Amino acid sequence: MQTITTHYDGTFVKSHGSEVMDIIKPTNRKVIARVTMADEQDRKRAIAAAKSAFITFGRSTREEGTEILLRRHQAVSARVDKLTAATVEEYGGVVQFAGIIVQTGVSAFLAAEQALRELPLNRNWGNSTVTREPVGVAGLITAWNANTLFFCLKLASAVAAGCTVVIKPSELSSLQTQVLVEALHEANLPKDLLNVVTGRGNLGGAALVRNPDVDKISFTGSVDVGKLIMRDGAETVKRMTLELGGKSPTIVLGDAVLGQAIPLIMAFMNSGQACAAGTRLLLPRSKLDAVQRAILDAMPAFPAGDPADPKTAVGPMVSQAQYDRVQSYVRKGIEEGAEVLAGGEGHPKGLEEGYFVKPTVFVNVKDDMTTAKEEIFGPVLSVITYASEDEAVEIANDSEYGLQAAVLGTDLQRARRIASPIRSGRVVINKMTDDPQAPWRGFKYSGVGREYGRNGIEAFLETRAILE
Ligand code: NAD
Repeated sequence: MQTITTHYDGTFVKSHGSEVMDIIKPTNRKVIARVTMADEQDRKRAIAAAKSAFITFGRSTREEGTEILLRRHQAVSARVDKLTAATVEEYGGVVQFAGIIVQTGVSAFLAAEQALRELPLNRNWGNSTVTREPVGVAGLITAWNANTLFFCLKLASAVAAGCTVVIKPSELSSLQTQVLVEALHEANLPKDLLNVVTGRGNLGGAALVRNPDVDKISFTGSVDVGKLIMRDGAETVKRMTLELGGKSPTIVLGDAVLGQAIPLIMAFMNSGQACAAGTRLLLPRSKLDAVQRAILDAMPAFPAGDPADPKTAVGPMVSQAQYDRVQSYVRKGIEEGAEVLAGGEGHPKGLEEGYFVKPTVFVNVKDDMTTAKEEIFGPVLSVITYASEDEAVEIANDSEYGLQAAVLGTDLQRARRIASPIRSGRVVINKMTDDPQAPWRGFKYSGVGREYGRNGIEAFLETRAILE
């Protein structure tokens, strides 16, 4: 069994904290590791280290920043396989998607390096000069569903801006974090730019948010915790980037090619534990029968099972709490009158040992049902019909969330027209795609601020004017 008893502040140091947390493998509920959580003393040391390192690093040049990003990229690139394996083992991420998440995280250093090279930092006119300055010490808090991606993305943007960081990764991602930090340590960079303290959110995360020496918080997680962080950070007027939940709509237009599996890929990606998962499928009423048949035909291609098997599409939920959460939403969907087209309550047959749930599709969903409104964070798709394109847009926007939306249709002009009034941070048309330079994250309760590329770096900058 693996044990982790250190945290990281430029070197691996034995944690002063004494609370030990079990890491449980989601496929069989066995304890696979024990992790010592950082305590207040560990956190104070890490924050002090970041604060002291900022005095020099905060004055670093663009060239020094790009050099660090390239070295970090090189260091983590060498560990892609190990990181993917740790994600499958600890989180139960299906191997193909886990590989994509890890690769996207690793590439974030290169994407930030490119964005930094192109980012205008100074402007002059008359006797005025405007400069962009690093905000200071950044506290980075990650969620468990793509820990490597959030860790690398936030770190890369913060470094590009000239910030030093203290990272509080998800406590459910300790093994992945260990692989990552070991890799980053080998980049042999100036000490204390990177500090990592494990810990439970209400202690470790909250302490970072409240600490006056932390200037900025970049958080990925749930809306409820995002609200707490906003409140806790108010006392020290923290700068904030909050990446929160989603209930993303996929609008199928009348001319979309039926039978394509894209709606299911979008709903079940990362076993449905994805903020961007397209969990509301919006269909023209006239297409319901045909789409139901297409979904039933496509379902065998989305089996639940061993996440290490490349044929598996849906792995276990990350924890007992997450398993219970998904079950309660499936039950509620049935109680409120939605009809189960596929899946339903309980474990899939033969997978009773772990936190496996059945990939589930509800039809006859009304827009005001809980299953259409709340983020489930599991493989549950709600099919809602619309009578007109205007109504499709209305339903798509009738959500607290506004993270991502998708429009599927053959006529591209029409698809773009429908995409235009959708109130979400990203709209993808006809495919699940990504662009590391395009801003990402949400409108409304889906968050505050943007990550990726230039926007991601700007989130860690202050603007200063010098007038002569
Ligand atoms: P969570 O909010 O429970 O925890 C996220 C992180 O915050 C963890 O590291 C946790 O330890 C920490 N935390 C918990 N309480 C805290 C507190 N009081 N103060 C400071 N930190 C605290 O979320 P989760 O369960 O890890 O992740 C799932 C959620 O994340 C979902 O709602 C999902 O939509 C969201 N998410 C959003 C995005 C996005 O980009 N918008 C991406 C992935 C996940």
